[in-house]
Amino acid sequence: MKVKTIMADLERKHPGESEYLQAVQEVLESIEEVYNCHPEFEKAKIVERMVEPDRIFTFRVTWVDDRGEIQTNIGYRIQFNSAIGPYKGGIRFHKAVNVSMLKFLGFEQTFKNALTTLPMGGAKGGSDFDPVGKSDAEIMRFCQAFMWELWNNIGPDTDVPAGDVGVGGREIGYMYGMYKKLAREYNTGVLTGKGMNWGGSLIRPEATGFGALYFVEHMLAKAGKSIKGATVAISGFGNVAWGAATKATELGAKVIAISGPDGVVYNPEGMTQEKLDYMLTLRASNQNIVAPFATKFPDATFIPGKKAWSIKCDIALPCAFQNELNGDDAAELLANGTWCAAEVSNMGCTPEAIAAFQSAGILFAPGKAVNAGGVATSGLEMTQNAMHISWSAAEVDSKLHYIMESIHAACVKYGTQPDGYVNYVKGANIAGFMKVAQAMLEQGIV
Ligand code: GLU
Repeated sequence: MKVKTIMADLERKHPGESEYLQAVQEVLESIEEVYNCHPEFEKAKIVERMVEPDRIFTFRVTWVDDRGEIQTNIGYRIQFNSAIGPYKGGIRFHKAVNVSMLKFLGFEQTFKNALTTLPMGGAKGGSDFDPVGKSDAEIMRFCQAFMWELWNNIGPDTDVPAGDVGVGGREIGYMYGMYKKLAREYNTGVLTGKGMNWGGSLIRPEATGFGALYFVEHMLAKAGKSIKGATVAISGFGNVAWGAATKATELGAKVIAISGPDGVVYNPEGMTQEKLDYMLTLRASNQNIVAPFATKFPDATFIPGKKAWSIKCDIALPCAFQNELNGDDAAELLANGTWCAAEVSNMGCTPEAIAAFQSAGILFAPGKAVNAGGVATSGLEMTQNAMHISWSAAEVDSKLHYIMESIHAACVKYGTQPDGYVNYVKGANIAGFMKVAQAMLEQGIV
């Protein structure tokens, strides 16, 4: 395989799909060496098949807003790869959603799900619907209209959507309600991230952030470091940021920054339970601004227009959106002495930022390993639904712990360089790729 040739071909076929092309390039560059030692992969054209989604559904979603005006959005579901299990992945509601963004997310999801040790293929969906400023009733009507189109293409053994940016427990509830009405099926396993009284799993709301911190703990332990007493800067203030801030605080770190599209909150005293709870209130307000945090807690300061990366910290945790930490941000963090960066968002760092972290020799790990605890716990939710039982929080948490430890071990196995530096990007990509590639090979030309 020649990465350059494959990329040139993809750029020709999918012009302008920048996020998708970026995600594919990163994976192909990391696996090139290993791939070329496997002529059977080359012969079966595994890479050429794996980079294209199995299928893409695009549909119109029309709904009525509170003023009685008719609104039209575009909905998508991308079923990317089913080599190791039914399609699985979240739904994103954000005004910037397009095919390129969802293809990148579906591609990443395929490898991430492979890393979890659970049998799940990769998928992603969403809409350019913008939840900011929408009322609860508008969100409900949109979710119902979205599911009206999607329901026939999903199912507990076919494709299991979940939450992502702009989609949390409330939206999953509205979509599940409509699914049942249309499908006349009451199998809770069709969606994950459900409420606790109707098939949800304990620890699922916390899982992405908790899992990320378990991964970071392993990464730090391997490097002879500890999170206790470390300062942590987090971007975002939604569900993922909340889970990460909660666990980081519990492990003895000080979360000194959270951020939003409006700016950063510098929080030198760290988090309290009241502050952590307030993060959820802010998210539920649908305003997408973080400034009110500093009004409510006067020991914190709001700095408009600045990113979390402008705050001096030991550990940087991007928890919001793709490419939210660029080369300049990385340079600023490194100049301020940051010694660990872990993507909790999907593809949170640009290639320039990753290169800067790696050449500075600091600890860096990619989203598909660090944030895999979210989808892994979705997999545990599916298992509980299929068995018609619920596990205790301690039981789910210990399984999540074990999964994050295995993901870390797989990254170390495939990513340790001769000089001892662990290239977690390479490790995660090779480990995920090998599993999917092997499964595709064994299932023939389909
Ligand atoms: N959206 C999350 C992710 O990026 C979770 C997906 C899921 O639980 O299916 O992995």
